[in-house]
Amino acid sequence: VTSVLWFRRDLRLRDNPALHEAAKDGPVVALFVLDHTLLKPAGAPRVAFLYRALRALDAELREHGGELVVRRGDPVNAVPKVVRETGAGAVHVAADFGPYGSQRDARVEDALGDVPLVRTGSPYAIAPGRIRKDDGQPYKVYSPFYRAWLEHGWRAPAATITCRVDWHSGADSVDIPQDPRLPADLDLPEAGEAAARKAWKAYRDKGLLRRYDDDRNRPDLDRTSHMSVYLKYGCIHPRTLLADLGDGDDTYRKELAWRDFYGAILHHFPESAREYYLPEFAKMKYARADTDAFDAWREGRTGFPIVDAGMRQLLGEGWMHNRVRMIVASFLVKDLHIEWQHGARHFMRHLVDGDLASNQHGWQWTAGTGTDAAPFFRVFNPVTQGLKFDPSGDYVRRWVPELRGVSGKAVHQPWDLPDGLPDDYPTRLVDHAEERRVALDRYGRIRS
Ligand code: FAD
Repeated sequence: VTSVLWFRRDLRLRDNPALHEAAKDGPVVALFVLDHTLLKPAGAPRVAFLYRALRALDAELREHGGELVVRRGDPVNAVPKVVRETGAGAVHVAADFGPYGSQRDARVEDALGDVPLVRTGSPYAIAPGRIRKDDGQPYKVYSPFYRAWLEHGWRAPAATITCRVDWHSGADSVDIPQDPRLPADLDLPEAGEAAARKAWKAYRDKGLLRRYDDDRNRPDLDRTSHMSVYLKYGCIHPRTLLADLGDGDDTYRKELAWRDFYGAILHHFPESAREYYLPEFAKMKYARADTDAFDAWREGRTGFPIVDAGMRQLLGEGWMHNRVRMIVASFLVKDLHIEWQHGARHFMRHLVDGDLASNQHGWQWTAGTGTDAAPFFRVFNPVTQGLKFDPSGDYVRRWVPELRGVSGKAVHQPWDLPDGLPDDYPTRLVDHAEERRVALDRYGRIRS
């Protein structure tokens, strides 16, 4: 009997447990549904990356005698329609644990009636909800989660397309849309499963994984793996990365565990996608976001070089270095006093790796309102952060052309240059020391 394999954020054929399940029963229809609800909040770079990943998947399916069936609309209608048209007896998916995805799947399950929706695997090394404390409660702190995560362990990846698949072809399909118009000069990484594996191999072959612990905080060196965009759409699964790690790669393993941890936190506390994870912060006083200050932050015109470099990297590349994500997020929340949700929305629009769990909780962590909260009173100083993590100043010069004439680390304090601030670079939007006091005062008030 025919099965539908409904791809969502698992756009690969290798090591795909749901495919393995689907292929057991007979021919497999490969389906993707273009769902407006998910596409709408994504900016052009992420949408383009998705379309390219779909094209790569379709090309690979065609090599194996299949094809990707693409439909448009609400999956609640689109998926049962494909089932009716192909006479399928089951729909196979990798489980989605996001707030929208899990509800959508429940609705699709209802609409399918007697045809089962079979969930196998997830985008995580260990599916959200699996790891719990002895009393059955979820972990809310990362370190004990990490220990339990290691102890639980994960399956080894299957290296090949797990089984012979009899791909079904001939179902109606819309074309994968043309890429939306992208900002000029935007250089997206190559999309798809083969590209993901190639990028991961290159990262290891260059010896960068071994240097990860030393170099990962240095945006000027740009030595992180850039796997986040591939993980976002499941062009590669974290299992594949974990299987290649050795004893010395603890730091990298811990980062993948953060991804699993935030996936689990969002699953247990879906409202944390919007609301303060620590509810007392809802009482805090914040500044409005419909202001010039917010625009200056978004456009990289704050007058703080490391902040501006990061915000321009986001617009120019659809990606930002993790250290700089923390610096710009702290600046929005603790220097401009704007709520993290506004920044998170801007990130979700522009990041190609934009992922609700990692993004919202990365923001809540930096804002001091999330799990493991870096305490609110830890305010990143954009100058000392710049001097420490971009000691050459190369990162700032790469993204802020107005400061390219300034050599070395002086680029982090252009207001102190002997010739004064370059004419075309903005003056500082705020006095950091003063705003830090204001932030601590806001915090003091909700504590008392
Ligand atoms: P590497 O350093 O090579 O790390 C390898 C992988 O580990 C990453 O691909 C990612 O999957 C995982 N990882 C690393 N750091 C984290 C972390 N802090 N939290 C969760 N997973 C992590 N990551 C996203 O994937 N999508 C987001 O939308 C996102 N938004 C963020 C927003 C803020 C404010 C902050 C502080 C962090 C955010 N992160 C997000 C986490 C992190 O910044 C990115 O995963 C990382 O920069 C991606 O680059 P990389 O693949 O080169 O990372």
